Amino acid sequence: MTQSAPREERPVVGTVDAVVIGAGHSGLATSRYLTKRSIEHVILERGEVANSWRRERWDSLQLLTPNWQSRLPGYSYQGSDPDGFMTMPEVVEFIDAYAEIIAAPVRTGTTVTSVRPDDQKYRVITDRGEWRCRVVVIASGGFNIPLVPAINQAVPSSIAGFTPQQYRNSSQLEDGGVLVVGASATGLQLANEIHNSGRPVTLAVGEHIRMPRIYRGLDIQWWLDAAGILDERFDEVDDIVRARRIPSPQLVGTPERSTLDLNVLTNIGVKLVGRLVGINNGKAQFSGSLLNHCKMADLKLHRLLDTIDEWADESGKSDDVDPPERFAPTRVEDSPRLGLDLESGQVRSIVWATGFRPDYSWLHVPVLDHKGQIRHSGGVADAPGMYVLGLTFLRRRKSSFIHGAEDDARDLTDHLAGYLDSCARRGAVSAEA
Ligand SMILES: Cc1cc2nc3c(=O)[nH]c(=O)nc-3n(C[C@H](O)[C@H](O)[C@H](O)COP(=O)(O)OP(=O)(O)OC[C@H]3O[C@@H](n4cnc5c(N)ncnc54)[C@H](O)[C@@H]3O)c2cc1C
Repeated sequence: MTQSAPREERPVVGTVDAVVIGAGHSGLATSRYLTKRSIEHVILERGEVANSWRRERWDSLQLLTPNWQSRLPGYSYQGSDPDGFMTMPEVVEFIDAYAEIIAAPVRTGTTVTSVRPDDQKYRVITDRGEWRCRVVVIASGGFNIPLVPAINQAVPSSIAGFTPQQYRNSSQLEDGGVLVVGASATGLQLANEIHNSGRPVTLAVGEHIRMPRIYRGLDIQWWLDAAGILDERFDEVDDIVRARRIPSPQLVGTPERSTLDLNVLTNIGVKLVGRLVGINNGKAQFSGSLLNHCKMADLKLHRLLDTIDEWADESGKSDDVDPPERFAPTRVEDSPRLGLDLESGQVRSIVWATGFRPDYSWLHVPVLDHKGQIRHSGGVADAPGMYVLGLTFLRRRKSSFIHGAEDDARDLTDHLAGYLDSCARRGAVSAEA
C-alpha cells in the first residue's frame, strides 16, 4: 500500500476575498480601506492587536515620532500633548482603539503557519483552521527577528548576550561593563539607559544617521514631514536597495525633547569604538572606520539641514522660525581602541542592536529572493494577488512608520481591488464560454 505525502489538513473556516496577516497598524490601516471598498476580508493575528508593541519592546521605549504624527486612515492622536511621545502602553491603547473604531474583523490568537498557492487562490493555514482567498496581504511586520551577526558565536560563554527583544530593562544585566553593538536609534537609546544604570558602556559604531531632536525651534519630524522628505517614493530614489538598508535615525522621544547623539553619549562617559568586525580568541576587534563613519553622518546631517533650509526659504517658513544652525562635528578620540579583551571581565554583557528582519518561515509561495526577502515593487509582491506592507521604504521613505501606513495601504488597496475585479471578469468570461 502506498502512502501519500502528509498534507496539512485543517478544517476550512471560510472563504474570503482577502486575508490580512497581522493586526499591527499596517494590517488595520489596510482593513479600513478594504472595508470602505466592501471587500470581504479577515485579519489573522497570532497574539493580540498591536502585539509587537505589547510583547517585543523594552520597558522604557517611547516613540521617536511625536504624538501629532501618530495618524492612521480616518484617525489621529486627540490627546492634550501633541508634541509628546507615546509610551508602549499608550501605543497599544492607540492601536487598540483604532481596531475597535473601524470594527476590524480580527481573529486574535490565530497563527498563520503556512500560505500556499492553490488554483489561482491561496490556502492560508493557521493553527485554528484554514482560509481560502484570492488575495493575501502580508502585514506581519518588518521587524520580527533581531539580526545578530554570526560572530556572536565566538563570544566567550561568561558574557550574556541580549537582543533588543530580550532586553526589558537594565536590571536583567550583570553588574559590570556592557558592549552595545550598533548605533541606530535602538543602540543609542539602550547605551544611554544602560550607562545611566551605572554600568560602563562601550558602543560599537558603524554607519548611522545623526539627527537633532529640535531644529530651528521645531521637531525634526515636523521638518521632514512638511518638506515632503518622508513622502519620497521608492521609484524616485537612485538606489532603492541601499535606501532600504539605511538605519533608523538617532532619535529618542523624551519629555525634555532632547537630542541623543554620539556627542551626548561621549559627554556622559560612553566609550565609542568602530564597527565590531570580529572576535578572535576572546578578543573583540573593532574597525578603524569610526572617524569616517562619524564624518559621513555629520556630512549627511548637514546636507539634510541644507535641504530643510532651502524648503523653509522657498515656502516662507523661514520668517516664523529660528535661524539656521549647524551642529558641532561628532567628537572621536584620536586613537579609539581597536580591541577589547572579552575574557578580562571588563565586559559582562553584550547588547546586539544590529537590526531586525521579517519572518516569512510560513510563506510557501515562490516569492522570496536569495536573502529571504519578498520580491515586490512598492508592496505589490511578485505573485498574483499578494501584497506586503510595513517594510522600510516599501513605497515611501515613511513606509515603516505609523504615519506611513495610510498612503501605502490606500495605494495597495486600489491595486488589490483592481486585481479582484480582473479575477471577477475572468471568472465571468469562463462561465460564459
Ligand atoms: C524598536 C522599534 C521602535 C520603533 N519606533 C517607532 C516610532 O517611534 N514611530 C513609528 O512610527 N514607528 C516605529 N517603529 C516602526 C514600526 O511602527 C513598528 O515596527 C510597527 O510595529 C510596524 O507595524 P506593522 O503593523 O507593520 O507590524 P507589527 O506591529 O509588527 O504587526 C505585525 C503583526 O503581525 C503578527 N504576526 C506576525 N506573524 C504572524 C503569523 N505568522 N500569524 C499571525 N500573525 C502574525 C504579529 O503578532 C503582529 O501583531 C519602531 C520599530 C521598532 C522595532
